Amino acid sequence: MARMLITKGNHKLGTDGAVYCFNLPAVSTCAPTKWCLEGKDGEPSCYALNGRFKWPNVKDAYEWRYEESLKSDFAGRVIDEINKVTPQFFRWHVSGDFYNEEYIGKVEEIVIATPNVLHRTTTRRRDFAKAVLQLNSQPNMIIRESLDTVFRNPTLGLPFAAIDSIDIINEMDATECKEDCIPCEYSCWKEPVNMYFKEK
Ligand code: SF4
Repeated sequence: MARMLITKGNHKLGTDGAVYCFNLPAVSTCAPTKWCLEGKDGEPSCYALNGRFKWPNVKDAYEWRYEESLKSDFAGRVIDEINKVTPQFFRWHVSGDFYNEEYIGKVEEIVIATPNVLHRTTTRRRDFAKAVLQLNSQPNMIIRESLDTVFRNPTLGLPFAAIDSIDIINEMDATECKEDCIPCEYSCWKEPVNMYFKEK
């Protein structure tokens, strides 16, 4: 059987097949801030740079997915896989981010071709604002801007996903992510609410 590009959710998103994901390497595809890389007493705060994300097999799998995402048949293969497993929800980039505008265009093709799936992601790629906003205009896509101690305020006109120690979560309506999507009823896929989460 061919190796799949998309993977089932995780302990937070649920592993019953309602959620599938596509992940990329952290740092090389992101625009990491000092908080991401050194925010935890000099060590990375980003969850994608900790725990099981450091395992060589996990890192190798994300590198393979990056290489595959460069290919011209990437969007078609992901569409075929989504149509085969029929998830209700799709999470882009538990690890990683949009690394160029061509890739954002491929993601948009996938989102348009899977109108019954609710897609969501977060991004720090303020440098690709125009393409990110275009993708976010699709009715089944929600993109949030990642905020931390370096970027404390939204700049893209998107909802945000912020750590709980910055002022913005008290200044604007924001919902706490309880890190357990099944009892939460996948609320943040359904509405473009601002979110915050506990810094680990
Ligand atoms: S807000 Fe709810 S649905 Fe969204 S990631 Fe957190 S627990 Fe999951």
